[in-house]
Amino acid sequence: MPGHIYCFWAGRKGINTPLTSLQTIGKFGYIAALIPQYLSLCKMLPLFALPMMEMLSAVWGNFKFLLHSINIFFFWCWLEILGKQKTSPLTRKPEPEDGTKVKPTSVNYHFTRQCNYKCGFCFHTAKTSFVLPIEEAKRGLTMLKAAGMEKINFSGGEPFLQERGHYVGKLVQFCKEELKLPSVSIVSNGSLITERWFKLYGEYLDILAVSCDSFNEDVNKLIGRGQGKKNHVENLLKIRQWCQDYNVAFKINSVINRYNVDEDMNDEISLINPIRWKVFQCLIIEGENAGEEALRQVETFIISNKEFKGFLDRHRNIKCLVPESNEQMRNSYLILDEYMRFLDCRNGRKDPSKSILDVGIDNAIQFSGFDEKMFFKRGGKYVWSKADLRLEW
Ligand code: SF4
Repeated sequence: MPGHIYCFWAGRKGINTPLTSLQTIGKFGYIAALIPQYLSLCKMLPLFALPMMEMLSAVWGNFKFLLHSINIFFFWCWLEILGKQKTSPLTRKPEPEDGTKVKPTSVNYHFTRQCNYKCGFCFHTAKTSFVLPIEEAKRGLTMLKAAGMEKINFSGGEPFLQERGHYVGKLVQFCKEELKLPSVSIVSNGSLITERWFKLYGEYLDILAVSCDSFNEDVNKLIGRGQGKKNHVENLLKIRQWCQDYNVAFKINSVINRYNVDEDMNDEISLINPIRWKVFQCLIIEGENAGEEALRQVETFIISNKEFKGFLDRHRNIKCLVPESNEQMRNSYLILDEYMRFLDCRNGRKDPSKSILDVGIDNAIQFSGFDEKMFFKRGGKYVWSKADLRLEW
């Protein structure tokens, strides 16, 4: 090959050198003299065309690789920009950003979305009827315990709807007996709890929280807290008594909304004397109680921060009152849904992670949106085991 190239250039030099003498034989003579040179060049072409093609194809290959890399780089930049503007499970950055591990100290497991009530502001609605087989739920709870869980709260939907309370009862028993969790609690609307349930499972339960937004039955009906002729307040008082009889700490949860924001509950709460009265500001969650897809529309229930503060001021003498504004509520709970996926509420909706059963706790918890600082700030860690509580009724 190098020899042929040399001949080619040598040929060209050969043409130029005698040019002055060729000029004397005329233009046509000059062209005629070139023909054999070009013919020999054409004969040589196939000899170096193949290596040239190989070289060009190698250059093209490298060029293609470069283009592909540039493409990936720009796509990555685009994802980064998108991730900053609009957080989605694909683009969200693992939390926390300082690389420390989030410990699932206190977990709220909403194992069912089904409920027998129809509260207008409900922010965990019956979008599915799925409930994990109990052995799978126990597997997930065991994983959580291994990752540092100290407190589990079973919630819904209505937890006592599944297997008439036996499903939640068995999980409560498992968490206390097998996992030896310091705190096991349930949040319920109270309408389906029986004394028999307390006899079977009461000893394994630390805290039972019952939702009650009003001591006026008409207001409860307006809100949707009720089923048929059952009286919500009467139920509440009955459960309060069973808690005392079976040594379970009793808690009340109230959602302050348009219909109860002016109510004075001082007398009733003082009389019932719960260990904690959680007072929440009615919260908007896209896809649950707001937006086209939602099963509830919360607009008519919403109150301003000022109105919420007014309610808190009116009840400032109640020592067990624990207020939770929208801001405190939104990211300070580790919420697991019915598939054991963490729900990230940072963007005003519930974005699910993958299930802890599929990807493990460390992976899933990165997508929980959990604000550990806010959890401690709102008093999320308190005396939550009945062994440490002095239950004086
Ligand atoms: S009782 Fe709870 S889960 Fe049921 S509808 Fe009311 S807020 Fe929703």
